[in-house]
Amino acid sequence: MKQIPHDVFRAVRRIHGGVPVPHQKNTAGCEITRIPTPTQVMLSMRQHIGAPCAPIVKVGERVTVGQKIADTDAFVSAPIHASVSGTVTAIGEHLLPNSIRAGVITIESDGLMTLCPEIAPPIVQNTADFLKAVRESGLVGLGGAGFPTHVKLTVPPEKHVDTLIINAAECEPYITVDYRECLDQSRDLLRGVYLLLEQFNFKRIIIAVEDNKTDVFYHLQKIAQDVRDRTHAVQLMTLKSRYPQGAEKLMIWAALGRKVPVGALPADTGCMVLNVTTVSTLYRYFKTGKPLVSRSLTVDGSAVAEPKNVRAPIGTSVRDILDFCGGLTTEEPYKIIAGGPMMGFALPHADFPTLKQNNAILAFAQGEKFVKPERNCLHCGRCNRACPLSLMPAKAEGALQLGDIDTLRRIGTETCMECGCCAYTCPAGKPLVQHMRLAKEHIQKEATKA
Ligand code: SF4
Ligand code: SF4
Repeated sequence: MKQIPHDVFRAVRRIHGGVPVPHQKNTAGCEITRIPTPTQVMLSMRQHIGAPCAPIVKVGERVTVGQKIADTDAFVSAPIHASVSGTVTAIGEHLLPNSIRAGVITIESDGLMTLCPEIAPPIVQNTADFLKAVRESGLVGLGGAGFPTHVKLTVPPEKHVDTLIINAAECEPYITVDYRECLDQSRDLLRGVYLLLEQFNFKRIIIAVEDNKTDVFYHLQKIAQDVRDRTHAVQLMTLKSRYPQGAEKLMIWAALGRKVPVGALPADTGCMVLNVTTVSTLYRYFKTGKPLVSRSLTVDGSAVAEPKNVRAPIGTSVRDILDFCGGLTTEEPYKIIAGGPMMGFALPHADFPTLKQNNAILAFAQGEKFVKPERNCLHCGRCNRACPLSLMPAKAEGALQLGDIDTLRRIGTETCMECGCCAYTCPAGKPLVQHMRLAKEHIQKEATKA
């Protein structure tokens, strides 16, 4: 393994808690391959945090790649664009990988991938134009969060953001698409970094990478050493490899020592965090005008015949993507997951559409059990120590069983980011993340009743 170059800064802080997970970056050597055009895509109206979109096309209408097919007036949202050319065959509802039922537009592909004739690079004269264009791109955080990018870039006038952190940590096991983006698309990333620097005049841009991806630093050095960076604003930073290092608030703490209070946003502490692939995709949009219609995903796990990194039109079914990777090695996989093994969602079958925020599809064979048989709590406190937010998952589980909403609120259950560290470390095999999710739902239901 290469050494980290000497001019790369080290983050001085380590995150609190967390767990040392096996990296399993089996596809790190696999360049991203484009899958053949699927016969059908299903595009969900909820592919972002915020208000769902409403269809603006009708059944029977012909659409082209990049044509806007759904939108809303809500600010916290992102429009949806056709990812294949063809005909809208249905507008209905479907269950999504994250267990939410949402509106879905089905497009039968004509196989031609005809580009929408109206696509052109956006004309930008000021920051308002820039933000409007980012919204039109349909771009959301591609690291898994799905937060609309234009919302993140919109800083209220009373706040001052001096630092942009570009998150290339990719700390979940198996997933390697951001790693590949850094290696294979470093030019687009470089241009994206300088596009943002020119637009927002950040004092500092930190590209943060975990110390287990040493070769990435050599590719990214040209970004930090670009002639446009006269003030040396762009820096590379190495972070101690530990899950969930890539979580936004933890990243800000490790990189800058700034603590984002509960209920506050990164902008409240003068910084902003963007995923690395989001930045290079942003640049490609400003260059071509083509909105977000496809994305890269890692396909891996013991039940996948040929693990790969693929690029697929958004809305392609998990089954089509698995088929492109040689299919499953077993008829009855133990688990199919949309996302990583720590924060992803288990799917009951492969007939789910992929979303903008899906960065991986994993499938595991029987026998690969990371779930231990559940026993009574041993009161060992490991879950508390592993929680990066210092929550008390075992106590929350007890309060959930008693329906004690006041205690759940008092111990900060709502702030749980569902990282899975507590469940991973629990020797009693307690499904603590599911309990935390359920507890959060109970709190929300109670709040809507009031
Ligand atoms: S899932 Fe929630 S409670 Fe468990 S470790 Fe992560 S943040 Fe803490
Ligand atoms: S880690 Fe598991 S066994 Fe230990 S206190 Fe937490 S819930 Fe109980």
